[in-house]
Amino acid sequence: MRICRRAEELTPFFGGEFVPTMGALHEGHLALVRRAKRERGITVVSIFVNPTQFGPGEDFEDYPRREEQDLRLLEKEEVDAVFLPRKEEVYPEDFATTVRVDRRLTGVLCGKYRPGHFDGVTTVVARLFGLVKPKRAYFGWKDAQQLIVVKKMVEDLALGIEIVPVETVREADGLALSSRNAYLDAEQRRRAAGIFRALSAGRGLAERGSCRAGDLLRRVREFLERDDLSPQYLELRTVKNLEEIRSDSVLEAAPDGEELLLATAVPLGKARLIDNLRFRAKIIRRTPAFEGERK
Ligand code: AMP
Repeated sequence: MRICRRAEELTPFFGGEFVPTMGALHEGHLALVRRAKRERGITVVSIFVNPTQFGPGEDFEDYPRREEQDLRLLEKEEVDAVFLPRKEEVYPEDFATTVRVDRRLTGVLCGKYRPGHFDGVTTVVARLFGLVKPKRAYFGWKDAQQLIVVKKMVEDLALGIEIVPVETVREADGLALSSRNAYLDAEQRRRAAGIFRALSAGRGLAERGSCRAGDLLRRVREFLERDDLSPQYLELRTVKNLEEIRSDSVLEAAPDGEELLLATAVPLGKARLIDNLRFRAKIIRRTPAFEGERK
């Protein structure tokens, strides 16, 4: 396994499989690596805690950094190269570009509460794509909005990189693995499992037949309250373009329906935990005409 700290050392690894990360690796990251390895190409993993995606007062300084342990884990996975750049390698002094995807995708959900966050993400991902020149790149559904935004960027800029989504890896009690789970104490860790229970209850309601979006969201909130969790946001949107599903829309379970994203962010102690579930439903939007038909 080659450890590259300089961009020019990446040349022999162009055209391969790429897994960008911020390190403090766990089984979620390793699922991406294993999925990448299945393609049998050269696999490159980057570890870079990107300062531009953290807002003022966020956890950039405290973000867990475990370089030695990460390298041991990646060695075991037989990764070909790890890119571990210093900040100046990613952002040279005269760096002058920001890549921004439309606010309809980046100003909602997490973007509403973390202004500039996704500009930091798309800019660093575009820069890393340019340095690593991969054929395919792997992203987790855990960060669904990030995946959707990066896909849009690649499509709009015709970067010619295939974005491969990977399912969220969870603990036995349902909590999505995250480097930030390390911030939780034992009591918070126990309550954190309530997020998955709540989202599952919501999805369960939709999958059982027909329900109103507003009732589904109410049910999820009730579940969150049981664990004394209060979400920063809890929303139902389309996966395709993150369009919000109005609460008076009726959802009908349908395997060929629209793919929906039930997403939440829950502040818990020092952590801010995000999670989401996807399911398919036919959306019957209430329109004035529809109202008229019912009379
Ligand atoms: P991060 O190091 O948090 O920037 O994450 C790097 C990549 O790993 C992103 O594409 C994440 O979506 C993905 N990832 C993080 N946690 C999980 C998880 N629990 N399951 C699947 N993918 C994950």
